[in-house]
Amino acid sequence: MKKIAVVTGGARGIGNGISRALHEAGYLVAANYHSGVETAKKFHEETGIPIFCWDVSNYEACERGIAEVCEALGGTVDVLVNNAGITRDSMLHRMNPEDWTKVIVTNLNSVFNMCRLTIPSMRDKNFGRIINISSVNGLKGQIGQSNYSAAKAGILGFTKSLALESASKGITVNAIAPGYISTDMTDAIKEDVKERIKAGIPLGRFGKIEEIAHSVLFLADEKSSFITGAALSVNGGQYL
Ligand code: NDP
Repeated sequence: MKKIAVVTGGARGIGNGISRALHEAGYLVAANYHSGVETAKKFHEETGIPIFCWDVSNYEACERGIAEVCEALGGTVDVLVNNAGITRDSMLHRMNPEDWTKVIVTNLNSVFNMCRLTIPSMRDKNFGRIINISSVNGLKGQIGQSNYSAAKAGILGFTKSLALESASKGITVNAIAPGYISTDMTDAIKEDVKERIKAGIPLGRFGKIEEIAHSVLFLADEKSSFITGAALSVNGGQYL
């Protein structure tokens, strides 16, 4: 039987690549989206992958969304990829409380929401793969990203704790910490800043969406059963 995979923010950017890779590998994929309605529709038309709209920062919305996915795909979630994320960058002395909270609830509370709601059925069937998308900046910090780095570092602690709790149940919980990847998120960075960042990456370039998708496929594989609580850096060799 095909395994069911849910990818949050799965219709755009890195999530789009992850959804496609899982689909091509034979998973039944549900791609979640929130505000990008047109992008999600186009993604669905191109791939045939079903799309589901909900706000991952809202617990009740996640509850409804997951129920809808399970009903539509005829089973419970086997593979959960917590990919949805935002930035609201500014130096801390200028950061307003709304930008702090928005990033924390979207990037970190969402991981609690989605895991809390899918882990019971994974425990029941003694199988699950949870892959949380963190960031190189959660490991090393970044100017203007105290909110984002705090959320992404929080994901790492969460991942390790849930991995320990789930180890006896055939569920692995891992994080991927991407370096800079070419997407809408990094398109927003000024050209001169981009060049400076690239100079600090041993491979001399930003990563590709497919390179993150490939790492997700690897961790989702049944044969990756001895890897749990790990934070896999996929960052072109950036020194941390
Ligand atoms: P994009 O800005 O291109 O896409 C963000 C995705 O998150 C969209 O699919 C968006 O969906 C979704 N999303 C945002 N808010 C919500 C919400 N409340 N509910 C549901 N979905 C939401 O980002 P990337 O593809 O670049 O990033 C994907 C992940 O990878 C993020 O977690 C990011 O932090 C992480 N990352 C990215 C790096 C990079 O260099 N690009 C580096 C390291 C980590 P919609 O448009 O429908 O709202």
